[in-house]
Order: sequence, then structure tokens, then C-alpha cells
Amino acid sequence: MKAHLIFTGTELLLGQIVNTNSQYLARKLADLGIDLYSMVTVGDNRRRIAEAIKSAKGKSELVIINGGLGPTEDDVTREALAEALGVELKENLQALEVSSRFFKRRGIEMPQANLKQGLVPEGGLVLDNPIGTAPGILLVQGEVTYVLLPGPPGELKLMFENEVIPYLKRTYHMGGQIKSRVLKVVGLGEPAVEEKVKDLIGSLNPTLAPTVNRGEVHLRMTAKSDDPAQNEVLLNEMERKVRERLNDYIFGVDDCTLEEAIGQELTKLKYTIAVAESCTGGLLAHRLTNVPGSSAYVQLGAVTYANRWKTRLLHVGPEVLAAHGAVSPETAQAMAVGIRELTGADITIGITGIAGPGGGSSAKPVGLVYIGLNYRGKVEVFKHEFSGDRESIKYRSSQAALTHLWQRLKSYQ
Ligand code: ATP
Ligand code: MG
Repeated sequence: MKAHLIFTGTELLLGQIVNTNSQYLARKLADLGIDLYSMVTVGDNRRRIAEAIKSAKGKSELVIINGGLGPTEDDVTREALAEALGVELKENLQALEVSSRFFKRRGIEMPQANLKQGLVPEGGLVLDNPIGTAPGILLVQGEVTYVLLPGPPGELKLMFENEVIPYLKRTYHMGGQIKSRVLKVVGLGEPAVEEKVKDLIGSLNPTLAPTVNRGEVHLRMTAKSDDPAQNEVLLNEMERKVRERLNDYIFGVDDCTLEEAIGQELTKLKYTIAVAESCTGGLLAHRLTNVPGSSAYVQLGAVTYANRWKTRLLHVGPEVLAAHGAVSPETAQAMAVGIRELTGADITIGITGIAGPGGGSSAKPVGLVYIGLNYRGKVEVFKHEFSGDRESIKYRSSQAALTHLWQRLKSYQ
């Protein structure tokens, strides 16, 4: 079954609200095994909504229209559907009951404007709305099922789950289930990842698609079949093939974050960690401590922003700072060593760089970052040059530090 979604609301087009309903509906349709072919967003304009409905007709068997079922002037999807399908809007007692019940329960008289919610295009079925005033509408014309759902996310979800899913399951044989799994990669750029799985990217079932996500490459595998168990088999087989080529770079699956993967490794090894940060201003410690249970291994996070404190707390030699500057491999190394002496942690990190937008020079440009990693009696220093704004340089620095850390921990296994 092919589906098309139409979202209505000028506020969506103006960027005033985020279209969270699209994500919800797209996921639900995928779970149902319904192929979502396309979605569009249209303003609160009756003619344009009607055009969008008409153009969806020949292409899909299920057209879901979201929003604009309220009582105000700009709520025009009922009218637009009637216009697109060439049917009359009729008063419908069941629809009127849904909105009048809402007011009755609150002991308020129903405003005249809400009478409009009792109108339904001829042939339409009424979908109950237990928490709002707008009834939904389901109408079958020819090969196509049209569904009108309210905009407020809570109302949409309840109606979709209570009314629409049971209707679709009753009426159609669903064309299988869709199941995705994401393998998360660090330490390799997207081109290198693609190169390694090039032949698998052409696979039809499951499909394999790489996306870049803030210093990580995510490989999404999507399987489709009538049987959920078969989907698991397909995904396991694809995962095995991907791991054959990229296992050393895959830190997690699905919702697993890099800091969680690190937490698991530190716990396994019974290692503790401490970090000394300059340009990341505590972001590294923040990310490490985002993991529940991180108190088992996080010892200390020190934000030594001023040189004075690099020296006082971490014993970074004033001569090192004078000779090489705060942003230098020597300082990163001395910070990692200093925080280790202070805490005795098994692994320590020192991080220093220029987050910008000011403070750069041709010798030391904005985005230059050094990361010192001190482990097993040895210090390694990594140099990076990031581009982007201050926030993204800070994030990428923390991401790089976590990546080096994870790679070292993994190599101990
Ligand atoms: P109402 O009776 O509240 O007017 P409605 O069915 O007419 O409901 P809209 O007027 O389109 O729906 O939207 C009502 C509110 O629902 C919006 O102001 C917005 O907060 C939320 N909303 C609408 N569409 C979306 C969407 N696609 N994603 C997230 N929220 C949405
Ligand atoms: Mg509205």
C-alpha cells in the first residue's frame, strides 16, 4: 500500500513550529509496512490544500491530511477535501457529538464556531477524538482512502492509534513489516566507510544507507518482509557482512551513544578517568557523565580555562606555556599528565584549542585543537583542525577526544 502525507499549517511553512507529526506518522506507517512515498506541507489555504489532495490521488492508496480541523477561519481541510473529491459537506450528528461532548464535560456552552466541526464530506466516517474538539474523518473514494487528522500531536496520536490503525488492519492486507537497525561508526570518514561497503549499498533487502552525524557515520539497514522474525534474520546477516569490514570502527547499535560505549569499556576494564579541559569548557566531562552509572569511573573534570589554573592545578610549567602557548601539543600533554598526577586515574585526557570566532592566527587558526591522551604510562597527542562555529568546534573537539579514547580502550580487548 502506497501512502502520501499532507501537512497543513502556515506556522509550519514559517518555521514557527517543528513538524513532529511527520516523524510520528512516518514511523507508524513503516511499522505497519505501508510504503510512504512522499509528504508535502501546505499553508492554511483551501485551494492549495485541495490541489495537494487532488495531485495525491493517482499516486497513492492512502492519503493522510493533518491539521486544520479546528473551528477557526483558517481551519479549512474539511472544505478542501470536499472540494477535491467533488462532494458536499453535510451536517453529521456523530461528528457534532464529538465536539459538543468536549464542552459538556467542562460545563461550558459550545461556541457557535465549533458547529463547523459537525460538518463531514458526504460518505465520510467520523473518527472519535476523546481529548479534543475536532473529530477526524475517514473517507474512501475509488481506490483511495483519505484520512483527516487533527494537528495537536496528542490528539493525532490517540486518534491514529485508536481509530486509524485498527481500520487499516481490518480493511487491508498489510504489505509486510519494515525494521531498521543503525550501526554507528567513528574514526573513519563517510567516503572511506562508503568505499568499504560500496557493494552492499546497492542491496535491495535489506537496504544499507550511510549518513553523517556530527563526527560519526551511521549505517542504517532497513529490512522488509511479512514476518518480523525474517526481518531479524535479514538484518543480522547484513550486520555480519558490515562488521566483517568495519568492526574496528563500529562502537554501537541504534540508540547507543559513543559515551555509553566508552562507559561499557571502562566498566569492563575497571578503569577510572579524569579530564582536564580548556576549549571544550566541560563538555567532555558533561558527555562522559551523561551516562547513568558513570560515577563508577569518572573521577574529575577540571575546566582549566585560564593559564594560571593550568599551572596551579595541573602544574603545566609556565615555561611550557611561554615557549609553546596554551594551544600546543606540549600543553595538551602537560594537562593530561597533570590531571593524572592530581587524581591517579587510569586514563586521563587534556584538551586545548581555539574555539573561535576570535583568537586565531595564521600559525594557530580557529579550530586548531590538541588532545593529549595519557594511558598505561604513555601520552599520545592528537592534532585536529576543525571548521565551523564555536559550538560546533567545541562539540567536534569533545567528539574527537571520545573517539581516540574509545579506539584505545577497544584495542585493549
Ligand atoms: P485546533 O483545533 O487546535 O486548531 P487543528 O486540527 O485545526 O487543531 P492546526 O490548527 O493545524 O490543527 O494545529 C493546531 C496546533 O497543533 C498547532 O498550533 C501546533 O501547535 C500543532 N501542530 C499542528 N500541526 C503540527 C505538526 N505537523 N507537527 C507538530 N505540531 C503540529
Ligand atoms: Mg487549527
